[in-house]
Formats: sequence, C-alpha cells, structure tokens
Amino acid sequence: MTQPNPLQDLVAEQGVLLLDGAMGTLLMEMGLTSGDPPEDWNVRYPERIEEVHRRYVDAGSRLILTNSFGGSRFRLKLHRLDNRVTELNRAAAGIARRAADAAPHKVLVAGSIGPTGELLEPLGAMSFDEAKAAFAEQAAALAEGGVDLLWVETMSDLEEVRAAVEGAREATDLPVAATMTFDTNRHTMMGVSPEQAVQALGKMGLVALGANCGNGPDEIEEVIARMRAQNPDVLLIAKANAGIPHFTGDELVYDGTPALMGEYARHVRDLGANLVGGCCGNTPDHIARMAEALAQPAGSAGAGPVRAGFKPAPTGTASSTASRQRRHRRREG
Ligand SMILES: [Zn+2]
Repeated sequence: MTQPNPLQDLVAEQGVLLLDGAMGTLLMEMGLTSGDPPEDWNVRYPERIEEVHRRYVDAGSRLILTNSFGGSRFRLKLHRLDNRVTELNRAAAGIARRAADAAPHKVLVAGSIGPTGELLEPLGAMSFDEAKAAFAEQAAALAEGGVDLLWVETMSDLEEVRAAVEGAREATDLPVAATMTFDTNRHTMMGVSPEQAVQALGKMGLVALGANCGNGPDEIEEVIARMRAQNPDVLLIAKANAGIPHFTGDELVYDGTPALMGEYARHVRDLGANLVGGCCGNTPDHIARMAEALAQPAGSAGAGPVRAGFKPAPTGTASSTASRQRRHRRREG
C-alpha cells in the first residue's frame, strides 16, 4: 500500500488496537425492535447512535464501526429504504466521526459494510456487477460522511467480499479491511476455510483481514491461529461474539461475561491478532475488560485457546448458520 494508512500507523503505535463491541445489542436496549432497520436511526435518533459510539470510546475503543451494517441497497430494500442509501450511510459516518473527534486521543472511524443478504449468481439472482455497484454506492456515501477506512464484515462468500472491495475501490481511495464469519464447522456458511480466506483476501490489497461474529471466542481463537500460521505478516482482526447466544423466553442472551471476553482478548492477541474487539452480545463493559486485559504484557494469557467457562462451539448447520447471519444482520445494524 503506498497511500497514507492511518490504521497501520495506529496499530504500530498501540501494539494491539482495541475495536468496539456490538451496535445492535445496545440499540435493542434503547428501544430498537427486532426487524426494524437500525440504519434508520442514524436520521431518527442520531443522539442514540452517538451515545453508543461515545460509550465505546470511553471504554477504550480506538476504532469504531459506523451504524451501517445493513446499509446497502439490497438490505435497505427490505424496509423500502433503498432510495435512501446515500442519506443513511452519510449520516452514519458523520455521527461516528463526531464521536471519534470528541475523544481526547485518536480514534479511527471504519465504515461498516455487511453482506447484501443475496446469493451471487449462479446460486442466486444477484450478478457480481450489481453487487459491486451497490457496495460502491454505500462506500461513496460513507466516505463523504468522513470515515477513515471501509470495513467489510460478516461475509461468507469470497466473491461477495471481492465485489465489496472492488466496489469500495471504484468509489473511494480509502483503505479497506474485511472479515468473514467461520461459524459452520470452522468454515464460512459458503464453505471457506480460514486458510482459504487468508489466501484469497491476502491478494486483495486489504489493510487488515480476519474473522468476526460466529460461535464465540473459542472459534475465533482457532481461526486466528490458523490464519496466522498461514500468513505471518498480515494484520489480523478478531471480533468474536460474546459466547454463544441462547433464548431466555424471547430474549436473546449471550453467555460470555466481560471477564471471559477479557480473557479472550489476551488469548487472541497471543495467537497473533493485531486488532481485537467484540461482535454480537459485547457491550462497553466487555470492551472495558478487554482494555484492562490487553494492558497486561503479551504472553500472559496461559496456554491453549480453550479454557473453562466456554463450551466447545457446536458444529454449525446450514440452517443454524443462516439464522445467525440473519440475527447479526438484524441486530448489529
Ligand atoms: Zn455479530
């Protein structure tokens, strides 16, 4: 990469860069109902979105993701908001930018870009060029709103990642990072292994790559170890869910406590992750514990990725994986 790269600079300065936690989990606490588009809140309740960002910055996050996970026209179309892609993404970026710039130290804003929710041809009806154009439209709006980089996440299909990266490149000069979700027996829903992901994503000129969401810390720790073994040089991102979700009544509860997620942060750093945060179920309390844990010296996490407190991740099935992806899409915004 020859262009200026604020992410690499901040990782070099910090050692391990602390990311944020879930957006959707907090918005639900603030009244977002299941099935509502979180991106709409960028215009309806910008102060609530800014408060979430501010709480993560206060907890120690040095990079925050915009509330735009479902901000592509394919996702917004489900809510008849596909004519507002530019408005909602620009607003998302502007809110996060304000929260970052109010911090007493440098905080980067990454423009979140999630999957379209459609399958590419020939499995589905979406052409590569349609996907690329939708991602370019979203990326352009996030760039206009002031993000420092673009962050493609929760991906299952390497071709959709490529469409997002190429779309982002067409629309902006910003650095691009990408993470995939390895929740189906340590593969993505589309059958991509961690090794295949590193090989393919490693050729896309990304500023960082890795794993997010899924079945909790044990899964991400194994994925990161395998990615690091495959490529010693690339910046690796780990953003694990707070354990495994289960329903209590109709409420979704995650079993990963802040203390356990602090342990995860040290483990995954020692396994080679350079950017560490949380996905679904993680709150500012979880991020604060990760900050404390990462302040301890490297190599202090004890041996082995598996420890008491977490059940081994179950073998994913296509249907459980699909529902998890929908859940992330719905809740994480
Ligand atoms: Zn998630």
